[in-house]
Order: sequence, then C-alpha cells, then structure tokens
Amino acid sequence: MNQVAILAGGLGTRLRARLGDLPKPMIPIAGQPLLARQIELARRHGFHRVTLFVCHRPDLIERELGDGRRWDIQLDYVAETAPLGTAGAVLAGWDDLEEEFVVMYGDTMVNLDLTRLCATHRQSGADATLVLHPNNHPFDSDLVECDDNDRILAFHNRPHPPGRWFQNLVNAGLYVIRRPALAGFHDAFIAEKPPRALDFGRDIFPAMLRQGKKLMGYNTPEYIKDIGTPERYDKVCDEVARGVVERSSFTHPAPAVFLDRDGTLNHEADGLRSIDQLRLLPGVSEAVQELNRGGFRVVVVTNQPVVAKGFVSEKQLREIHNKLESLLGLEHAYVDRVYYCPHHPDGGFPGERPELKIACECRKPAPGMLLRAARELNLDLKRSWMVGDTTVDMQCARNAGVRPLLVETGHAGRDGRFSASPERSFPGLPEAVRYILQQSSLPAPAP
Ligand SMILES: [Zn+2]
Repeated sequence: MNQVAILAGGLGTRLRARLGDLPKPMIPIAGQPLLARQIELARRHGFHRVTLFVCHRPDLIERELGDGRRWDIQLDYVAETAPLGTAGAVLAGWDDLEEEFVVMYGDTMVNLDLTRLCATHRQSGADATLVLHPNNHPFDSDLVECDDNDRILAFHNRPHPPGRWFQNLVNAGLYVIRRPALAGFHDAFIAEKPPRALDFGRDIFPAMLRQGKKLMGYNTPEYIKDIGTPERYDKVCDEVARGVVERSSFTHPAPAVFLDRDGTLNHEADGLRSIDQLRLLPGVSEAVQELNRGGFRVVVVTNQPVVAKGFVSEKQLREIHNKLESLLGLEHAYVDRVYYCPHHPDGGFPGERPELKIACECRKPAPGMLLRAARELNLDLKRSWMVGDTTVDMQCARNAGVRPLLVETGHAGRDGRFSASPERSFPGLPEAVRYILQQSSLPAPAP
C-alpha cells in the first residue's frame, strides 16, 4: 500500500481562539503542525504518497508544506469546491486514488502502527477495514458490532434502545479501503447534480454492509483523538508533551493489568449463567479508569467452562461481556480486550459440547490467554500484573511471568487448588490498583 488520503477540510470554527489565521490542519501540536505529524507517520510506515483533500485555503497549506520533498514523499492537493462530507470528498477525488489507500481525518492526532493495520487488512481480504476503539462514554456514542473474527455485523447509532447491551467499540475515523469497493458509490455520486454530501460513517459503511461487502474491525488501544474543541486540543497537546501519544503505538511494548472476571470485577455467582446475575463490585469502575489513565492496557481473562458444559452459549456470553463493558462505560472506564476460555477438560455430562471438552492451552492456570494478549497487543509481560480472587489466577500469573495480586472479594484465595502465592493481597480491586500504580512509579527492580 502506498497512499494515505488525509481529509483536511473543515474550518475549525470552534478552535478559532487557538488557530488565529491558521487553517485547522496546521494547528501546532508541541510546535509542529498536526498535518506534518500525520505525514511523518505515513512516511515512517513506508507510504510514498499523501493526498490532501482541502476545503479551506489550500494555498496556505501548500505554502507551508510544499510538495512533500522534505519528507521524500509525493504530496498532492485536491481542492474541494464545496463541502462534500468525508466520503464525498474522496469520491470527488476519484482519479487521484490508488487501488487501495488509507483514509485519515485531518483533525485527529494519530499514533498507530500503520504497517500492522495494513497487513491485517490485506490478510483478511476486506473491502474496508475500520479502526475501532473503546471509549469512555459508549452510552452516547455510535457503536460498531463485530463477530469473534472481527467482521463487522452492524452499526448501532445512538440513542441505543433500552435493555440491549452492545460492545464498547467506536469508529475511530481511520480506514483502509479498496477503491473498487467504492465504484458503485462513485457512479451514483457523479450522476447527481449537484453532488450530495456523503459521510463514511453514516452513509457509505452501512450501505456497504447492506450490499454484503466485507467490512472488518481493527480494535486497537493505540492513540487516535480528535482536536475539534479547545478542551480536546489542549488535552492532546498535554498527552503529546507527556509522552502518552508516543508510548501508545503498537511499535512500543506496553504494560498490562490482567483482570479475572467473576469475583474480581463482578460479584461471584458460582458459574454465572444469566446476564441478570452480572453486577459490578464496588469501586471497580474507578479502579479500571485509573488503569486506563495510568497507561496500562486492561485485559480481562476468564475461564468460562459453562460454555463447554452447555449452560451458556457463545452468543449469551458475548451479551454478558457487552453488559460488563457497558456498566464500566457508564462510569467512564473501559477494558481493551476480553479473552475467555470456553473449554473444560472432563467430558461425560449430559448437554455438554464434546468439541469444547478438551485439555486446552488457554484455561487458567495455563498462560495461553495472557500470551495471546501479549502477541496481539504487544505487551511487556515483565511490567505486567494479574489480579484475581483464586489460586488459579495466582498460578496463571506465575506461569505467564507477570506479578500476581490477590483480592479478598469472590473466593478470596480460599479455593485451595494451587500452591502459588500472591505478591500481596488486598481487600478489593481499588486497593490492588493503587498498589500497582504506586509500584509502577518506582524505578524498575534490577533484573
Ligand atoms: Zn481453553
């Protein structure tokens, strides 16, 4: 892949006080224009062509950035004559598009491993891959629903119907798109006079889904935030200055806190089978939120033999996890991934699912789920932790090489199944998280 299309339209009215006479994409982030940062990101990941779709004062931007020679890339400008929406702008610049390209919004600060994103897109053979992430206000966000293989199933725009739980996954505004998949939209677009404004999120992707096109979700904890208001802009500048943005990319290994589910995040319910049984323990949302802010990836790892035993289907389990994410989201906390082991080793019971009655490598205390997360999220296990309420969790932490902390909620470590002891015990997750944050601000212990 060779081309990044940056949608640099928009007047930036709400940012007038910060912008002065500058066009919005030229807004400085720690002394460097936002647009220049995006171009550098593209270049670092091997792209040789950046096409800017500009609505407002392309001359000013061109005078500043030139033809891209200073980055050794080809920098083209496509001037919009009227605001056409995100997709409209791209369709109007049809002849300047290559077979496959990345779309980035010019008002977002992005630090993301584009190489990895594009490789994932290619492997899946998708018509489009959408970068998705959890956010801290899913209840008033447009949400995306994916299956277990990351294929997008549906878009759920706000307001959400009461009584339904969705995964906390939001369109982050960064896409990889195959140009031929847009051909039909382009034909319709140029047939209309004057052309109708079209938005990727609202118009194009839902229509592609209706046509049966293959849309994939790419769920990532990497950094993508828009700078559309003075508050958001100041926050992004602060996070760049503190190194948060630099560290968030998959190119940097990150520490994680692995969390057990039942008895650690939510009340233990002896093989939780019904969504109504899921209730969060006190203080866990705030604790997870502190981990979110503290630069940890937060990963839930849970044994769910109830699936192998035939008590809960994968679909029901997904709804339970959607509710977990929603309850956390209501209090502005999110987890980066939920992994579960559906297996159980001992067969011979009525109603069980024989294909899941196996000795697997993911059932805790085996470290399979943690190792998979480490691969998929580029985690630094040496700086990572596991918090759980059983000796199974403590043994799992030891097996994976992360630091084990016990909580005295749920089973409170009295299950007696393994001899592994925790580094420390705490009354609950909030106290354990306080310890993690305090330990992590200390210099690393000598190897
Ligand atoms: Zn398993």
